[in-house]
Amino acid sequence: AAEPLRSLLLSRIADVPDYPKPGVVFKDITPLLADAKAFGALTDALAELCQRYHADKVVGLEARGFILAAPVAVRAGLGFVPVRKAGKLPGATLAQSYDLEYGSAEIEIHADALRPGDRVLVIDDVLATGGTAEASLQLIRRTGAAVAGVAVLLELGFLPGRERLEKALAGAPLETL
Ligand code: AMP
Repeated sequence: AAEPLRSLLLSRIADVPDYPKPGVVFKDITPLLADAKAFGALTDALAELCQRYHADKVVGLEARGFILAAPVAVRAGLGFVPVRKAGKLPGATLAQSYDLEYGSAEIEIHADALRPGDRVLVIDDVLATGGTAEASLQLIRRTGAAVAGVAVLLELGFLPGRERLEKALAGAPLETL
């Protein structure tokens, strides 16, 4: 993002040490959400990415990805599709599991939410290990839709999330604001 936007966004993200467990620095975006100017600027920037990459659907990743992606979809004039943790979607779903540090997790999408020919921009707040985003891209491809790109507010540069995503992106852009 351009420097003024970058500084504004960074100034509204709080570092919370040792949350949710010792050694983790949690990136808290609630100050950003509470600031109409910052949240609006972020929404505009993400909506612009929808245009730039010719997206026709916006996918948000549970849970904070929903908060960011929903206003982007409205602003860009596109539909919103949730990728949820397993067991939350009422219809027929496709599921994808992925490895966590300890154990594994599973996410789902409604099987009929996307169709071949759709171009999807995926939005989340933080890219950490990249596991969630990677599994989401796999899910989206299984619907037959194309990945227009992935956009996150923040990327934890000391983790190899970007590298982990490279194969699943298959040339699609990963944008960090
Ligand atoms: P990962 O699958 O490791 O890339 O983790 C991504 C998901 O976990 C995102 O949906 C983030 O919301 C959340 N997350 C991971 N690490 C952090 C962190 N340090 N601060 C805030 N959220 C995080």
